[in-house]
Amino acid sequence: MITIAGAGLAGLACAYELLQRGAGVRIYERAEEIGTASAARFAGGMLAPWCEYESTEEEVVSLGGRAFDW
Ligand SMILES: Cc1cc2nc3c(=O)[nH]c(=O)nc-3n(C[C@H](O)[C@H](O)[C@H](O)COP(=O)(O)OP(=O)(O)OC[C@H]3O[C@@H](n4cnc5c(N)ncnc54)[C@H](O)[C@@H]3O)c2cc1C
Repeated sequence: MITIAGAGLAGLACAYELLQRGAGVRIYERAEEIGTASAARFAGGMLAPWCEYESTEEEVVSLGGRAFDW
């Protein structure tokens, strides 16, 4: 059993990948409800990998595209 602290995007993404690979996962979230304390809630839950295209490095854009595909 693998324990993850925090049910933000990072914690949930790790849990998803670990479950896909057959691991047992337990998530501890300090907020009373999942999502209410996560940064993504303030970000509007958007997925915008190209939003900083004009001002960032190519690698950031490339990684954003891979994340979007994932
Ligand atoms: C306004 C805004 C716009 C953004 N726009 C973009 C964008 O366009 N593209 C992009 O890629 N990213 C964007 N981001 C950034 C992105 O939202 C964050 O980087 C990402 O959501 C962070 O996820 P996380 O899981 O690392 O952290 P968090 O979402 O902060 O999750 C951490 C979780 O852990 C919990 N926690 C903390 N400590 C403990 C503990 N000790 N025990 C148990 N639980 C705990 C918290 O309650 C929380 O739920 C934006 C962010 C903001 C605020």
